[in-house]
Amino acid sequence: LLFKQDYQNIQVPGRALYASARQLLDLIYIKGVGTCGLFLAALKQVLPEGQGSGLSFSGCCSKIKEKEESRCTSTQTLLTRRPSLVNKLQGCIDGTLEALVVSGHFTSGDCDEVQLPIHTPSQQARCLLNHVRSKGEAAARVVLTYVQQKQESPVNQETVTPPKELLKYQKKLSSSLSAQSCFLSTYGGTSNMPLDDIYTEGQLELAHDCPDINGPLVLEDIVSTVGTVNKDADTVLVSGQAGSGKSTLLQRLHLLWARRAVLQDFLLLFSFSCRRLNSEQRELSVQELLFQHSCWPDREQEEIFQFILDHPHLILFTFDGLDELKQSFSDEHRLCCPTQRAPVHVLLFNLIQGSLMKGVRKVVTSRPEAVGPLLKKHLCKEVLLKGFSPTGIDCFVRKHHTDPTVAAKILGSLQANTALLGLCHSPVLCWIVSQCHMELLGCGEGSPQTITDVYLMILQHFSQHQRPLQRNGAQIWLQEHIETVLHLGQLAFQGIGTTCYLFSRADLEACGVSENDISMGFLIQSKDMSSTHSNHYEFLHVTMQCFFAAFYVILTSNIDRSTIPKLFETQDMKGTDQSSTCFGVCLTSTNLQVKTVDWGATAAETPNLQLTATFVSGLLSQRHRSLLLHCCPSLLIERKVRQVVKCLSKGMQKHFKSIPQPVEGEKKSMHAMPGFVWLIKCIYEMQESRIAKDAMSKLEVDHLKLTYCNIGPVECTALSYVLQHLRNPIGLQLDNNFVGDVGVEQLLPCLHICNSIYLRNNNITDEGISKLIAKGIQCENFQKVALFNNKLTDACTQHFAHLLKTKQDFLSIRLGNNHITAEGAKQLAEGLKFNHSLQYLGLWGNKIGDEGARALASALENSQTLVWLSLVGNGVGSTGACALANIIKNSTSLEGLWLTENCITRAGVEHLIQALQHNTHMKSVWLRNNDLSLEEVEEMTQRESRLIF
Ligand code: ADP
Repeated sequence: LLFKQDYQNIQVPGRALYASARQLLDLIYIKGVGTCGLFLAALKQVLPEGQGSGLSFSGCCSKIKEKEESRCTSTQTLLTRRPSLVNKLQGCIDGTLEALVVSGHFTSGDCDEVQLPIHTPSQQARCLLNHVRSKGEAAARVVLTYVQQKQESPVNQETVTPPKELLKYQKKLSSSLSAQSCFLSTYGGTSNMPLDDIYTEGQLELAHDCPDINGPLVLEDIVSTVGTVNKDADTVLVSGQAGSGKSTLLQRLHLLWARRAVLQDFLLLFSFSCRRLNSEQRELSVQELLFQHSCWPDREQEEIFQFILDHPHLILFTFDGLDELKQSFSDEHRLCCPTQRAPVHVLLFNLIQGSLMKGVRKVVTSRPEAVGPLLKKHLCKEVLLKGFSPTGIDCFVRKHHTDPTVAAKILGSLQANTALLGLCHSPVLCWIVSQCHMELLGCGEGSPQTITDVYLMILQHFSQHQRPLQRNGAQIWLQEHIETVLHLGQLAFQGIGTTCYLFSRADLEACGVSENDISMGFLIQSKDMSSTHSNHYEFLHVTMQCFFAAFYVILTSNIDRSTIPKLFETQDMKGTDQSSTCFGVCLTSTNLQVKTVDWGATAAETPNLQLTATFVSGLLSQRHRSLLLHCCPSLLIERKVRQVVKCLSKGMQKHFKSIPQPVEGEKKSMHAMPGFVWLIKCIYEMQESRIAKDAMSKLEVDHLKLTYCNIGPVECTALSYVLQHLRNPIGLQLDNNFVGDVGVEQLLPCLHICNSIYLRNNNITDEGISKLIAKGIQCENFQKVALFNNKLTDACTQHFAHLLKTKQDFLSIRLGNNHITAEGAKQLAEGLKFNHSLQYLGLWGNKIGDEGARALASALENSQTLVWLSLVGNGVGSTGACALANIIKNSTSLEGLWLTENCITRAGVEHLIQALQHNTHMKSVWLRNNDLSLEEVEEMTQRESRLIF
């Protein structure tokens, strides 16, 4: 019942036992009634005799039910708590409206309607609630969060009057933050793009299951108490892949705070970039850190700092890019005194864990690989940033191109190339694609497929912007700019090897980077306001740095032969907090002095090295060979291709060797380690089916498990490209990722090799299902599908009905926790009537009611194959139970019927008991949490032991 991931999340070394116990209880609760029952039974076994006697499950049921009921949507809460909300809202109508405008749910017209002068405050509150209902769930959540924050706000509890100097300082801080965050730096070279004009909401989700949250989070939820797992901690982690929009999200937060549009309860907001903190060599006190690295108070420094110390709950810190800090997180060196000096990373770690400035809220961003359990135990919650949703991509492209015809053309070409559409879920790639629309629309058939293709496109775009092609011939543009690419490449490569992302003039000169090279646009001047970094440069984005580093690895002959193998070895580095193996790379710099770059590949650096390796694979693809051959000797390229192919093959072998032999009678199963997906992506970048075929020829498993592996559409494209070459069918388990409809479409090319596909909790809608089934019907091996907890409605059931009618060897359909009603059940029944193979049907947690149960029962009455049917939590009453009794009466195959958490009364159970008298092979009918009294339960258990209450 517990996955390995669950186990690790609970057993965090060093965490207090009581905290682990709470988390275990939360997890068990989320997993539902069945798990709770088993948990109590297990607990009884381990407790000393006597202590377990009070642990009866039936006693807990009503509580669980009560809590289940409270797990309702925010829209429902608006209705149920309307009178008290009207009261609370009266004092804060303006603020609530502002929050709704900022979050994009209300227009100024909406606000005017609410604030009509003829309305009394309570009428305004009612009018506001009515409007919010029509705007949907996310808007309702904004209101509830706002009201809750207002109530909890310490400002409400004690009125703080900040000293005059503080207010002046606040003003200075706001205007400096506003100046730093009002433009997006990726647009720096070409145009100044106001953040307001381009900012598009990314997908934010809590990393932990949280019963109170339905659907995505909004920006303010990051700082609010929503989804808190550890109340004692002050630090929120926002994690996401490179380019998923973490820095931009903080930038947005800063800008809105500076305008007093959000988070008004925080009087001061201090922002830091870990990239820039790296170059602070001095030891500093907290006060020096705040004032020297964020904003300098012109007067009364002591008074202001004292205010900060006295009112920690009014202060917010943000730290961008913890993964770029040279040192890995550690909690060894404790520091409690805010005036004591220490190295900056020590200050930072103590701030994060709360031994310094307890009570100050901190938001930290990082790539997930750099966050180990040591850091996790100090987090109050973790929020995942998953890039743009499909509508986000649409919205971004339209914001980027004010000309609607251009935007429509780009979106059209994305629809025609779903691999590229998948890539655009990453904002940085979406930006590149939008930026390079001329190249994109001009490339016809050769439209980009891989991430290397996209980065080559921006390189071509920037280089032609600098110096338009003189000669004809598509393949020579690189040759014309090869010097620049090599200079930037060397700088990038050295930086990647030394955790350096900010470069001084001297660094640039050492690599031969000239003004001309800078003017190409890939290097930008550091935006930091403090004088320390004013003359420093950085790449437009860290992914660009990796791209240029990869170019250097390929094009230069000055590089040690072991560089490529070492680059591909990074998969072995587990996501620990400790720095792992160091390895040296000999780099002969242009002035022929041998310089050793120590690649101390800490967990934080591994993602950069892996991305560099991915680009190395992509650039060495046969498709780009002619481009490279204009720039360097073919022998060199061929040698490097051979090296990469060998590394990929060896890497795969390593994974295959780690697969344990199956226990007798069980299937051979492989749970992929993080490095596996990365290797698959490298193979995909090479776009050579020979290599994919070769890699898969040695994989012999029946079941491939990739749960919680951060699999999005891009990973699906790569997986599908490689797995389609498997020799024998497998079960492909992709539960708990973010596959989405675009990802489902990407998986279709490998569906023929899947006998079962598990896509629980993956944000899939009816649209994705329609494509999955259209293809699945043609796939001989395809027999099982699990889609628990997605976004399916009745509209998907016609496709399942078609599948059931067409495929008479289909075995299992699991659709739990979706939005299927009686209508959907009727559609399904249409298919079931004609099916002679289905064994498992799961509809747990839908809303099919009596009507739906009747339709299913009449379709399944004569089934000779159905073994297991679950209608748990579906609002089924006695009429439904009576109809279902007919299946029991006639079936020769059914073994388990799950009707837990419905509203069946005695009359319904009587029918089930009678039916069971005709059926000897049926094993159990689960009836916990129905409308039955304790006496009835006792009596009926006596009469029929297969009823389980
Ligand atoms: P990360 O910090 O996760 O590496 P960034 O925030 O630097 O990612 O995003 C990279 C680029 O992607 C930005 O410079 C910008 O062009 C684009 N981008 C990211 N998030 C957004 C967003 N929410 N709206 C618009 N553009 C975005």
